[in-house]
Amino acid sequence: MNFEESDEEKMFREAVREFAQKHVAPVWRDYDKNHEIPRDLIKKMADMQLWAPTVSEEYGGAGISMTMACIAAEELAKADLSIALPVMYLVEASWGFIFDMYGTHEAKSELLPRVTKGDLFFGIATTEPTGGSDLVNSTKTIIKPKGDGYVVNGEKVYISGIAETEKYGGVYWTLGKSDPKGNHKAFDAFILPLNMGDGLHPGITTTLFEDMGRMGVSTGGFNIENVEIPKHYLIGEHGKGFYHAMEGFSAARVLIAATCLGSATESLDIGIDYTKQRRQFGRPLAAFEGIQFEGVKAWMALQADTLLTYKAASIMDKHYREKDPKYTKLDIAQWTAAAKYRAPHDALDAITMAMTWHGAFGYTKECPLEAAYRGVRSYTVGAEGGAHIQLVVQARELFGAENLPYRQEKQP
Ligand SMILES: Cc1cc2nc3c(=O)[nH]c(=O)nc-3n(C[C@H](O)[C@H](O)[C@H](O)COP(=O)(O)OP(=O)(O)OC[C@H]3O[C@@H](n4cnc5c(N)ncnc54)[C@H](O)[C@@H]3O)c2cc1C
Repeated sequence: MNFEESDEEKMFREAVREFAQKHVAPVWRDYDKNHEIPRDLIKKMADMQLWAPTVSEEYGGAGISMTMACIAAEELAKADLSIALPVMYLVEASWGFIFDMYGTHEAKSELLPRVTKGDLFFGIATTEPTGGSDLVNSTKTIIKPKGDGYVVNGEKVYISGIAETEKYGGVYWTLGKSDPKGNHKAFDAFILPLNMGDGLHPGITTTLFEDMGRMGVSTGGFNIENVEIPKHYLIGEHGKGFYHAMEGFSAARVLIAATCLGSATESLDIGIDYTKQRRQFGRPLAAFEGIQFEGVKAWMALQADTLLTYKAASIMDKHYREKDPKYTKLDIAQWTAAAKYRAPHDALDAITMAMTWHGAFGYTKECPLEAAYRGVRSYTVGAEGGAHIQLVVQARELFGAENLPYRQEKQP
């Protein structure tokens, strides 16, 4: 058991912090207002090898561990409280990582060097109009063999990065079924080329939703009409797409936990500073135990979640990097779901409390905490799996898959 970061991790944290405080902190409130992260910021991150940094060096990444990827997520979110940039970062870092693991060499050589340079967005598209939680029953997108490749039809909704993809280029790690009536073994994962940099694919039409938070990154949806993809765009084995997606969710979930903790830790610091300045009843707010105890409780929750998050990240590193057989994909799913459940909730509580300490000012757009609130809220609502689903995943490990409620009707 080692609770210390290694020298390499400490240096990395310092480098990301310096970068984020210099280049992200001064501009995030602008892009929260005008709804677009500047391209040159993304390019600067790519120059620092911080864009899809978990991708292996062979394909242009830095091949960093999940622990280090979480460190970067935390530091970026301390600089961008709205978490828009961290969201884009974590989508690339998680789904890029899983694509690097299961994609074909041909597809990875074609796409990943462009992704890691920040030129091509690499998104994730699993959610459909009929639901994002019960993918087995909700997925209507169909992928069928055609000629040397496949043809895809369907619709995806509540997808991050659609406006950016339309404007600058992007591909999506997508889930579809080869048999509409099939179960989780009927899924294929594949790359859907929405915009390879030369305009939207003619078979794709997009829509945009107006979100309440993380305004620097867009959320939208797309229709897929007879989009033909080459055979090498299939990710992993035919029929294994569902399982590969679950690994992608785990990677995204641990990074989400780190992101929410970064935003909340900084918000708590801002709140504590404010209570030291603001005086009521003849003394600083910080001198009232009612305020102190709230702050201490929030701090304890964030510390506990930080340990949980880095434990989840270390289990991933043990499994994927060290190939330690003690840690399975189910362990990863359980621990990352625990981190994804707790961190956004405790982060939201801490941010809400720090807003309250600011009184009326906390409810204005002058105060940066409202953007943190709006951003972190997305991860208690749904993105990369709703809160209940994180409990379902853990319950499966604790009580056994045979006791999953949705399997009960199939039992005698
Ligand atoms: C800001 C944002 C960005 C997103 N970006 C992406 C993206 O890039 N790509 C993508 O594919 N998706 C994305 N999503 C969608 C996200 O993955 C889904 O919102 C999520 O999976 C839940 O699906 P749903 O919204 O259809 O809710 P539903 O599946 O309809 O669920 C509704 C509610 O019921 C709860 N629920 C479901 N099943 C159970 C159960 N068994 N027991 C108890 N409660 C249950 C859910 O937790 C949820 O609260 C994004 C969502 C948001 C909010």
